[in-house]
Amino acid sequence: MNQFAMTIDGKDVQGEMPSSMVLNPANEQQAFLAPMASVAQLNKAVESAKTAYPNWSSLTQTKRDEYINKIADVIELNASVLASIIVEEQGKPTQLAQMEVGGAVAWTRHTASIEIPVEVYEDSENKRIEGRRKSIGVVGSITPWNWPLMIAIWHIIPALRMGNTVVLKPSELTPVNTLKLGQLLQDVLPAGVLNVISGGGDIGRAMSEHQQINKLVFTGSTPTGQNIMQAAATNLKRLTLELGGNDAGIVLPNADLDAITEGLFATAFINMGQTCAALKRLYVHESQHDELCQKLADIATKQVVGDGFGDGVTFGPVQNSAQLEKVIAMVDEANQQGAVIYSGGARLDKAGYFYPPTIIGNARSGMRVVEEEQFGPVLPVIKYKSVEQAITEANSVEVGLGGSLWGDVEQASELASQLECGSVWINGHAEVLPHAPFGGCKMSGFGVEFGLEGLLENSLLQVVNINK
Ligand code: NDP
Repeated sequence: MNQFAMTIDGKDVQGEMPSSMVLNPANEQQAFLAPMASVAQLNKAVESAKTAYPNWSSLTQTKRDEYINKIADVIELNASVLASIIVEEQGKPTQLAQMEVGGAVAWTRHTASIEIPVEVYEDSENKRIEGRRKSIGVVGSITPWNWPLMIAIWHIIPALRMGNTVVLKPSELTPVNTLKLGQLLQDVLPAGVLNVISGGGDIGRAMSEHQQINKLVFTGSTPTGQNIMQAAATNLKRLTLELGGNDAGIVLPNADLDAITEGLFATAFINMGQTCAALKRLYVHESQHDELCQKLADIATKQVVGDGFGDGVTFGPVQNSAQLEKVIAMVDEANQQGAVIYSGGARLDKAGYFYPPTIIGNARSGMRVVEEEQFGPVLPVIKYKSVEQAITEANSVEVGLGGSLWGDVEQASELASQLECGSVWINGHAEVLPHAPFGGCKMSGFGVEFGLEGLLENSLLQVVNINK
């Protein structure tokens, strides 16, 4: 008996397609069976969202905020069950899963508190021109497998807050926490306001093409983002695309390595490196390369790698076999091309997709692990001779999500604008917050999430010209 169901029109619905097996990455065994939607069920979900839209969008902001705060209450009440599902299907250690759920609550409450100003372009004796914000309609959300609950919240809460109704499709690899969220919210939201359907890439594609979906928010890979953009042309859907990155960090010459190594490690290996804005390439002056690699390796080898439910485990498995294979191939190639493996470097010899945190020294441009996003527990460290060279190499990739500078704050602040990316952190990385906009440039996508700017992406600007 499948205890998890999709939510369509406020009710539990099982999939019309054969259920899909959701694996536990810590043992490669079936953890759950997830329902799979047909395109006809997607159409029903969209129809339900469309029907719910007039009432939801005409509620006062105060009333909608009450609903949104109730969503936060329900997530908080069910935090332990949600965290436990995340560990089982996603693999991260329990403490990190609890942080994910806590983050979902914090983001929800903060988003409900953002003031939405009316912009006044002119207010003269005879004329007033105002910019007002209107909802868009039905918003589609397609989420990935790395932070499944948190990213679902990042998509749906701003959309709901601005008066839109939502159809959400989680990744086939980690759908269960999101299905559970939909079921929990059946008692909170009016029917049709939030529909959750699980399915594969075919359902994602059908959402991108759907004539009745007016905006789509997507977090995932660049190639899928490109497919979505093409398909979205059918009805000129609004898009927010948060795609992959290959974030560079530059350690400035003479940086105090003792002060920054913990931070470098933590931000490169957060969620086993499976984080869009994690630090993925590290540039360090040649005089400090060996020392920094060794210091990072010392932290890496102290990690306790294992099942996320295990006592004291600090480092879980990679989420899926395709991602693990990609990591293995990249590290093996770098090794053959003369890189030095300071820690890790091989899959653990047991069931589960375990790969220990791996520090690769003497990495260089041209190696795949430097040029492409590894999205896993590997950090290549690249030597530079001059800061100019490091910046040129940092900017040499097609993507531009985040970047960081480590060392002297004044020098770093001056250099920040030279990095081609949406967010720059100084003496930090991968820090995303509900009040600061976050988004990428180049092939990392467009649009921002979070803060007022992120909220307004879920609205249309209507300019009202009043001739007094
Ligand atoms: P994808 O981009 O393929 O998948 C993300 C989501 O898009 C999933 O819900 C997926 O559904 C859905 N999807 C797949 N095909 C389509 C389509 N044609 N139209 C609309 N939606 C679609 O990522 P992967 O899971 O395959 O991971 C591949 C790479 O993407 C990783 O190696 C990593 O580099 C990057 N990535 C980046 C993330 C980020 O946070 N920016 C997160 C995850 C991955 P389903 O899975 O059910 O098929």
